[in-house]
Amino acid sequence: MTGAYDAVVVGAGPNGLVAANLMADAGRSVLVLEEQPTPGGAVRSDSELHPDFVHDTFSAFYPLGAASPVLRDLGLEQHGLTWAHAPAVLGHALPDGGWALLHRDPERTAAGLEGHHAGDGDAWLALTRQWDRVGPALLDALLAPFPPVRRGAAALRDLARTPALAPDLLRPATGLVRRRFGSQAARLLLSGNAGHADLPVDALGSGAFALLMTMTGQRVGFPVPTGGAQALTDALVRRLLAAGGELRCGVRVDRVLTDGRGACGVRAGREVVAADQVLADVLAPALYEELLDPAVVPRRVRLGLRRFELDPGTVKVDWALDGTVPWEVPPEVAPGCLHLGDPAGSGQGDLVLAGQMTTTDPRRSPAGTEAMWAYTHVPQGWGGDPREVADDVQARLERLAPGFGARVLARRVLGPADLEARDRNLRGGSIGGGTARLRQQLVLRPVPGLGRAESGVPGLYLASSSAHPGGGVHGAPGANAARAALWHARR
Ligand SMILES: Cc1cc2nc3c(=O)[nH]c(=O)nc-3n(C[C@H](O)[C@H](O)[C@H](O)COP(=O)(O)OP(=O)(O)OC[C@H]3O[C@@H](n4cnc5c(N)ncnc54)[C@H](O)[C@@H]3O)c2cc1C
Repeated sequence: MTGAYDAVVVGAGPNGLVAANLMADAGRSVLVLEEQPTPGGAVRSDSELHPDFVHDTFSAFYPLGAASPVLRDLGLEQHGLTWAHAPAVLGHALPDGGWALLHRDPERTAAGLEGHHAGDGDAWLALTRQWDRVGPALLDALLAPFPPVRRGAAALRDLARTPALAPDLLRPATGLVRRRFGSQAARLLLSGNAGHADLPVDALGSGAFALLMTMTGQRVGFPVPTGGAQALTDALVRRLLAAGGELRCGVRVDRVLTDGRGACGVRAGREVVAADQVLADVLAPALYEELLDPAVVPRRVRLGLRRFELDPGTVKVDWALDGTVPWEVPPEVAPGCLHLGDPAGSGQGDLVLAGQMTTTDPRRSPAGTEAMWAYTHVPQGWGGDPREVADDVQARLERLAPGFGARVLARRVLGPADLEARDRNLRGGSIGGGTARLRQQLVLRPVPGLGRAESGVPGLYLASSSAHPGGGVHGAPGANAARAALWHARR
């Protein structure tokens, strides 16, 4: 055995790094082991396309990060993190050539929607007022360990005082929009945000998720770390090292070791690291089916895993453009995040999410150019050619912005296998650590009966987005795992 730590964290994604920070803050000796050459998981940037451009390799916009009490409490601004905002938060390209725009100022969002349909402006402001009474407590409860007793009670109390909103939280996004708005612009603006998780707009839970993303975006924006997503990771790493934690990259953990009492360390090739506790920022099936000896996995977890469902695969395209996007009908105010297509369409690739990153943060590429990306989903297990999907996405952009293709200096296509090769948690191109549908949420995540960071093996905690409350960069699964580990250590 080499070394002996209070805790080893497997994986330096945002959740692993949050977990490690909280362990180090509590005075525990902690080592993070990361397989890739650089830390960050799906929060990294690179200049592979062009030396003058910074592209976020995976995730880009962090509304949940900015609203998350977990990340806020870490004070990452003191470790070099600064946020940048686009002039408009989000723009959904409408089929008639116009735009539905989300702003940080609700009056501005409402004024835009009023222009699409008389009455939608007031309806938007009414929805915003109702959300403001309930949303913050709801978000806090969602990001707290499950069951969120105190914060859940606060959220229920606020909800009881806002009866007009409660039914909409239970409705699919389609029903919520139909009940309140007349324009296609409002429908697309809200339901496009349900597309940030793998929730069909007619599925239960999609209304609540659409509201959560849209209203959080309106309150805190869709901010990006100045200089690239990597800057968020760098701040987490700097803070960890300052608190006494250690990080080693290029080390793949292939076994979580157990003795008669529970987890006692990890093995990476021939190296063994002893630790009292192991916090795993890995996909749930990888933890239970690959890293653990099957004999120590509780039967109910083994059975539950048979029904574990990944979210869909993803094809991501990055472009270095030698000019800005030549929109045929430019949005009145430039949005950072873009939605193209109709999430109520028939196929998985109907909605395209995209980002104008230099518009959002001028440090991403030279003035007058654009570091751009887009992604769309494909079925899990899909065996097609990602380049064809990329061509299709680019053709859709070309229709909205004739001359787009002529501005491309360099393009990169990352299909499901490429994403997984750069971060094994992105299995089959899934980006959420498992589906976000209700059947795999709360007490059902990752398998029925868990719902907490405790893995079923003493001393081992699931710290990744496979655990409640799931995908997105907010740090909650990592924080929940650290809190559980610290609670058990004290006992
Ligand atoms: C293309 C894409 C776009 C996205 N866009 C957004 C967005 O705009 N906003 C947002 O909030 N979220 C977004 N997400 C989701 C978000 O990035 C993830 O939910 C988040 O990164 C999950 O964090 P994590 O720490 O659980 O896992 P990850 O970030 O996946 O990190 C896991 C880490 O563990 C390492 N690891 C795994 N197994 C081992 C092992 N055996 N040994 C050593 N190391 C191991 C991996 O290499 C990786 O570094 C996006 C994701 C993708 C892929």
